[in-house]
Amino acid sequence: TVRTRFAPSPTGFLHIGGARTALFNWLFSRHYQGVFVLRIEDTDAARSTQESIQAILDSMSWLGLDWDEGPFYQTQRYDLYREHAYRLLETGGAYKCYCTPEELEAKRKQAQAEGKPFGYDRTCRNRTDRPEGKPFTVRLKVPLDGVTTVHDLVQGDVVFPNAELDDLILLRSDGSPTYNFCVVVDDATMQITHVIRGNDHLSNTPKQIVLYEALGYPLPQFAHIPLILGQDKSKLSKRHAAVAVMSYQESGFLPEALVNFLARLGWSHGDQEIFTQQELIENFTLEGVGKASGVFNTEKLLWLNQQYLKEASPARLGDLLLPHLEKLHIHTENNEHLQQIIRLQQERSKTLAEMAETITYYFVDEVTYDEKAARKFLKPESATLLEELLPQLETLEVFEPAALEALFHNFSEQKSLKLGNIAQPVRIALTGGSASPGLFEVMAILGKATVVQRIHRMIA
Ligand code: GLU
Repeated sequence: TVRTRFAPSPTGFLHIGGARTALFNWLFSRHYQGVFVLRIEDTDAARSTQESIQAILDSMSWLGLDWDEGPFYQTQRYDLYREHAYRLLETGGAYKCYCTPEELEAKRKQAQAEGKPFGYDRTCRNRTDRPEGKPFTVRLKVPLDGVTTVHDLVQGDVVFPNAELDDLILLRSDGSPTYNFCVVVDDATMQITHVIRGNDHLSNTPKQIVLYEALGYPLPQFAHIPLILGQDKSKLSKRHAAVAVMSYQESGFLPEALVNFLARLGWSHGDQEIFTQQELIENFTLEGVGKASGVFNTEKLLWLNQQYLKEASPARLGDLLLPHLEKLHIHTENNEHLQQIIRLQQERSKTLAEMAETITYYFVDEVTYDEKAARKFLKPESATLLEELLPQLETLEVFEPAALEALFHNFSEQKSLKLGNIAQPVRIALTGGSASPGLFEVMAILGKATVVQRIHRMIA
């Protein structure tokens, strides 16, 4: 069976790039009916936080990326790493290095002064004495010549001369394991079959391969996916767009829109843009992942979100909209009234936050008139017209769109007006602005009492 993993370091919020890596691993495992493992790489005690672990778990749940095993925490697996290091010491695959940090630092400085690249000179690799009680690190015996080739499913074969690989440290002198070592022990013991991760990890891969070989574990397949770029083709950062996954929830994106968007960053299936989750799972293979980086296009994300907002059920949108309304100090419930409003608005909003802002006029006591709209549409004769319209509205028995439409048409015909000459002033009175969904639908939702009261207020 296929086994993939997502292995975030909990040193900050889950980044859009991390979420894309998680998604690709999840889709890959779901496509092949495999297993998706979540592993928290929290060995960097100084930078790992509980908050950030929570943010990662929350982001994944929000996106619907459920894991089958885990979360595992590397800090709880130190015994396993040490056991592996000692096994390598016994088999001769690794050695104890007694060089002190000061000695190494002096050598590094000297190499720098001579303009040479610094690599550990392997002083301890062949030493025969065993200094008693001196602190040591455990280093891997990396082959001195030859090459290590990464057969990458996305990048193709990438060749690294072994001479360029250092005898990497597996255990520090305090016994703590190093990053590449933990990753290999974990991926091997968790029986990961496919390591799918960002291209920024490619340079670690030859070291990891040497480690697999030293430990006698079978290699997984590697797939290094291109990083996400901003519009200016530099690596995606805060300058381009919000990078924390949860900030997209806060700005009113639907998780399925973000998932669809992330899937298309580096993966494609013909020229299809919109995918249900099921379609993503059915079609996701690594053949669809190219070497070219995906460019983060905010307009496209907004467009996708709009498509998903159109399709979502008003009941669900109601729940999701409440916190956005709260932020605007509008306290309501997800009831039929709210859902009627949503039905009218959901085709026209790009985000839930935008939707909340546009519908505030339904809930306020006093509408604020948009000055530009007022200047354009309120004529000297508007007040008289509204005054004449009011009794007709008040006596209308069925306050519904069709009846309202008929009433407005009759009224404008009687007065030989264009419909807009009466509709726009009413619209401003009711919504504050000159653009809204169908006026008669809006009126029906507001109800007779509110409509009459708002028109009164305008001409008062
Ligand atoms: N913990 C690493 C990161 O967050 C990922 C390591 C891996 O996928 O091998 O970048």
